[in-house]
Amino acid sequence: MSVRRHVIIGGGVAAASAAATLRSHDFDGEIVIVSDDHTLPYERPPLSKEYLGHDGDGRPTLVKPENWYAEHQVTVRLNTRATRIDPGAKRIELSSSEKLEYTKLLLATGVRARSLPHVTSDRVLTLRSLSDATRIRQLLAKVDTVAILGGGFIGCEAASTAISMGKRVTIVERSSTLMEAALGATLGGVMTDVHRAAGVHVMTGCVVHNIEQTPTSLVVRTDRRVIEADLVLVGAGSQPNIDLAEEAGLRTNGGIVTDEYSRTSAVDIYAAGDVASILHPFYGAHLRVEHHDTAMHHGASAAKNMLDLNEPFSESHWFWSDQYTHNLQQAGRSEPGDEVIVRGSLDDLDFSAFSLRGARITKVISLNRPRDVLATRRLLFSEHQASPDQLKDESTPLNRLVPRERPNRVEA
Ligand SMILES: Cc1cc2nc3c(=O)[nH]c(=O)nc-3n(C[C@H](O)[C@H](O)[C@H](O)COP(=O)(O)OP(=O)(O)OC[C@H]3O[C@@H](n4cnc5c(N)ncnc54)[C@H](O)[C@@H]3O)c2cc1C
Repeated sequence: MSVRRHVIIGGGVAAASAAATLRSHDFDGEIVIVSDDHTLPYERPPLSKEYLGHDGDGRPTLVKPENWYAEHQVTVRLNTRATRIDPGAKRIELSSSEKLEYTKLLLATGVRARSLPHVTSDRVLTLRSLSDATRIRQLLAKVDTVAILGGGFIGCEAASTAISMGKRVTIVERSSTLMEAALGATLGGVMTDVHRAAGVHVMTGCVVHNIEQTPTSLVVRTDRRVIEADLVLVGAGSQPNIDLAEEAGLRTNGGIVTDEYSRTSAVDIYAAGDVASILHPFYGAHLRVEHHDTAMHHGASAAKNMLDLNEPFSESHWFWSDQYTHNLQQAGRSEPGDEVIVRGSLDDLDFSAFSLRGARITKVISLNRPRDVLATRRLLFSEHQASPDQLKDESTPLNRLVPRERPNRVEA
């Protein structure tokens, strides 16, 4: 192949951000995005929030405006699936039966929603794509009762949206609180109370046995009781789209394994976003997270490394969630045994919970305190010293925790 051609498989935010970075760093060869979606790369976070709730004009929020791709000579092959990678020949095969050679290849294939086995009903749905959200949005306008199976972030955001539309909502969750895996039992309990106060019927510690469709409704049988609903939304987690990489012999560990430069085990193949399990330079472990900000910056970082700029990707795993009028944010990574210190008040739904290991903050989870998260993100990978008393004391600004003589490194 005489022309240099960088190919990106996947049409999400990591892919779009990688394409933009290739161009902004003066890559003048061909850029081809291969996406099995029918729409140009769009933002997924609004799908469980504004878009689902009929706010706005009903159009997706595109990562880049429609004309950006032509203006920057980025070819997007929509409705096209990459079906095979031949790392030796540096070629991929497409669902259209075409073959496409690449100079460098980025895998940004994301994850797919986990669905319930043996359930086939057009009113039992998962929420991952724009098509999913459009279908749920249409049904939400017509139905009265919604059962949400799984009280993770997407289930809880969808519950909040459905309640704001006047629906009767039940969440069935296996753990003892909502969002327990991410927030732990104490903060998960706070958020469970938030949902109950908003009118959601929350059933925790409850296991779903099966779902039956009757002519008039859906019947969800659990180990506790039977729930009838017009619409069932399954929020049962996700599965990384690693099949292509596995078939091509790339190293995987549940995600596509990369070094800190987003390089996979195959020459000239990179991975970024939700699907990638990257060696995090600060944490010293292979980590895969499903956060928007990470995917966006990861796509950009991988693109720089496709241009041999050799930049390790190190970021703080920041994410947010909007539920009712509340803004929940988290950054960092804690381990069992880290001490948890609360600044503010759980009862007033106005707090930051810091995880502390020795004198270092390892993680922060904040409700309605985005500034605390911003300040903590600056501390996480920098020299700092924090004590429980300082963290509890509202009059101690978080930026005071940085020794003044050491400059703070602001991450990407
Ligand atoms: C409803 C919803 C709400 C969310 N809200 C938040 C939030 O509030 N805050 C937050 O931080 N994060 C949120 N997230 C997570 C965030 O959106 C993701 O982390 C981010 O979209 C990941 O981007 P990505 O580009 O890595 O993958 P994706 O966005 O999943 O894109 C991957 C794309 O590749 C396509 N693809 C896969 N295999 C192939 C193939 N073989 N050939 C062609 N195309 C292929 C997929 O179909 C998909 O379109 C939310 C996610 C969802 C679904």
